Amino acid sequence: MSIAASVALPATLTCYPRYPLLTGPTPLQRLDRLSDLLGGPRIHIKRDDCTGLALGGNKARKLEFLVADALAQGADTLVTVGALQSNHARMTAAAAARAGLRCTLVLQDRLPDAPASHREGGNIFLDGLLGADVVVVPAQESLDEVLAVQVQALREQGRVPYAIAAGGSSPLGALGYVLAAHELLEQAADAGHRVDAIVLATGSAGTQAGLIAGLVQAGHAAAVHGHCVSRPAAQQTDKVQELASSTLAALGLPAQLADHVVHTDDRQIGSGYGHPTAAMCEAVQLLARFEAILLDPVYTGKAMAGLIADIRAGRYTREQQVVFIHTGGSPALFAYRWAFAGSAEEETP
Ligand SMILES: *Cc1c(COP(=O)(O)O)cnc(C)c1O
Repeated sequence: MSIAASVALPATLTCYPRYPLLTGPTPLQRLDRLSDLLGGPRIHIKRDDCTGLALGGNKARKLEFLVADALAQGADTLVTVGALQSNHARMTAAAAARAGLRCTLVLQDRLPDAPASHREGGNIFLDGLLGADVVVVPAQESLDEVLAVQVQALREQGRVPYAIAAGGSSPLGALGYVLAAHELLEQAADAGHRVDAIVLATGSAGTQAGLIAGLVQAGHAAAVHGHCVSRPAAQQTDKVQELASSTLAALGLPAQLADHVVHTDDRQIGSGYGHPTAAMCEAVQLLARFEAILLDPVYTGKAMAGLIADIRAGRYTREQQVVFIHTGGSPALFAYRWAFAGSAEEETP
């Protein structure tokens, strides 16, 4: 496979306004110590934990498009939903602060048995610091309903709310990752290496869907492996497929995706969204100690655990080049100290 020459972005992308939130392209770095340790493919990491907005993360890329749309519609308040330790909620609060908007976050408590630090520290502490109004609700099935109720309540107060779907994963939000796919291919070409596979955590699906749409548009054949954090693989595949198609449609491109384009794997979920696993703890510690990279307990720790398991199972050759997307989330580490208790002194392999 040749190194991709750079392909122009679709002209239709420029029809969508963007509110600048990123500080610039995020670094693409080599993980040589980790690659040597695991004896598998060359691993690179795309540092989307360094997007530059209030401790970073993937949601900044989506919010550039969503905030621009909110401003165009004359909204005065961003409203979104998530878990107590949602990175998306924290970044929405940050984006609102930057754009001079107010922000209401509806957060559900999905780990009621976790210690108080889980309810007070990490992202939720930052939400308050960034000036957001936080409403905590018990865990429930439909976040869409909760969002609709909050939007209505704000309207009754005379506000002009702009609702952002969980994770910012609409076709508009996913455009942020169409751009990211191009950024990544260009950086890899500049560094003189191929991109054989891309590995990431997949939740509300916008990141994986946007990357796939970007690669399809660029005619690039890299496989995108999404490690599920919240739902079974079959459901996640449908979600990614649907969103990638509607993202391509939003760009005026053919929306038909071949069946084999979307890869998802749900073997790292453990007991569910936000529930720690031993493999996640091992992956977080390994990256900290071998590369000084801080992953997160909910998304990237599980995705890296999936990559490590695949390498140990011989899925990749030594000649392959794999890019892991660090989608952010390290602020949640401060609300998950309890999950690492007892494993802190364990030997790394
Ligand atoms: C939201 C999030 C993801 C998942 O991205 P989706 O677009 O929701 O699939 C991955 N990692 C981190 C740290 C996140 O906050």
